[in-house]
Amino acid sequence: MENTADLAALRERLSLVFNKESYRRVIGGKDVIIHCHHYNSRIQRTVEGAAEIDGKALITAVAERVFCEHLGNVLREDDNVATRRAMAELLYAHLGYGRIDLSRLAEDEVLAPSSHFVEGWLAGLGRRDAAVCSFTEGYLQGAIFAISGELTHVHEVECMATGAERCRFEVRRGRERPIEPIERAPFAFEPPAAEGFLHSESVDEQAIIDAVVGMPIHGNQDGLIPAFGVYLANTPADFYNLLSISFIEEMAAKGREKTARRLLIEDAETCGMNTFRGIMNSTEWEGLIAPMIHERPDNLHALVAVSNALGWGNWHIRQHTPGLGLVIESLNGYEALGFRELRGPTKRPQCCMLTGVAAGMMELVYGEGTLAERFGTFASTESACICSGGQSCTFGVERVA
Ligand SMILES: [Zn+2]
Ligand SMILES: [Zn+2]
Repeated sequence: MENTADLAALRERLSLVFNKESYRRVIGGKDVIIHCHHYNSRIQRTVEGAAEIDGKALITAVAERVFCEHLGNVLREDDNVATRRAMAELLYAHLGYGRIDLSRLAEDEVLAPSSHFVEGWLAGLGRRDAAVCSFTEGYLQGAIFAISGELTHVHEVECMATGAERCRFEVRRGRERPIEPIERAPFAFEPPAAEGFLHSESVDEQAIIDAVVGMPIHGNQDGLIPAFGVYLANTPADFYNLLSISFIEEMAAKGREKTARRLLIEDAETCGMNTFRGIMNSTEWEGLIAPMIHERPDNLHALVAVSNALGWGNWHIRQHTPGLGLVIESLNGYEALGFRELRGPTKRPQCCMLTGVAAGMMELVYGEGTLAERFGTFASTESACICSGGQSCTFGVERVA
């Protein structure tokens, strides 16, 4: 695949489709969600750091299931092996995870000269002794199966996070355990109309959404997406949903369900502050959004509009007491719809990410001091959820300190 015309044709299979009704971003037939390296590294640390479970195995298993399916969507039956390999490298880079080099696959080796996960780990969590690219191991296992139908174990033997020049993966063949297919029950859901919400007269939400959707949020030549002072990635909603559902279930089996939920909410709260602080300090914000900000609450309206372009779904402000409280309602969040498809109805709300981000946004807009000092000054609760029979997911946020 040295021919760039071929690469351009492959790239076309990954064109972004933004659905204006549902606010979904779709790449290669999968809903993708934009999150930053802070969030991705933190949920990895949460899952792998839980002593009660094998979190690393969980991440690789979820990644292989999701990307085996995702690559299956973008490969065509008459693609030869070289094209399949190129597509697997391209999808990984396009989504923003970095670069993988599959040219030595026959020698059971994969090299990766850049990595979203290494960047995220080093930027937020510091140097560490062990390899960090569990996600990539799972991606490669799924990709190799999609390319050749072969089941493998991929093991990272050198990682840039521990000082290696590039990450290096060994491919071990002869695996028997199949890749578990993702089973979904279709969930017919008609979101309620977006009526009766609060808006700011000076914040043009549609202009903000159009601008963010128009940004080229896909990997550069290193397969990375530096933007807003963070590294972004487009990750299938299936990955986040399967990972958090399985993490909560495995922790629940050890009597640690509450802790699992709290940790996932805290990761999102931190991510909300970090990503949105980056966005508020960016040149894009300066040029487009800053002129729309007349009062402090306008920042919140603008951030909600930005988040509605990230693929998370479609949420709006129901009530707002500046500096003190917020009620925000999500009409079709990816966590809720994903949970319903993967697990069916349940008794309790399930949307940890939006719960945490709602608090993080309030802390960022109204808090004082460093992000660490702001953390935990607002508490957020999901009082109704589509998973437990709600028409929408409703989050109440209150100042607690
Ligand atoms: Zn690595
Ligand atoms: Zn919910």
